[in-house]
Amino acid sequence: MFIHYNLIMKRFNMIDENFICENCHKEVSKLGYTARDHCPYCLYSKHVDINPGDRSNPCKGLLKPIGIEKYKDTFKIIYKCTKCGEIHKNIMANDDDYDLIIELSKYE
Ligand SMILES: [Zn+2]
Ligand SMILES: [Zn+2]
Repeated sequence: MFIHYNLIMKRFNMIDENFICENCHKEVSKLGYTARDHCPYCLYSKHVDINPGDRSNPCKGLLKPIGIEKYKDTFKIIYKCTKCGEIHKNIMANDDDYDLIIELSKYE
């Protein structure tokens, strides 16, 4: 159980590799320039960090995208955890579905 849990954490966040999105079930390929932390098709992520990159959050709920905010020359996607309700932010990836990003910007 404990080993399994660690494997999942690594699969999703620490190693940049293919994974299956838990929301839309599409296969997501490696990002290449940084570790992939959310799905580029539906933008959902997973609640695994307390502080950015520490992977020490036991919640592991799905993070639902609820909005975006400007960040330097890119955007941060604002998430609300579907399990614990906490707000979390991830920087968008360069192959994210831009139409979805635009949709999210309308909610603010
Ligand atoms: Zn997805
Ligand atoms: Zn959570």
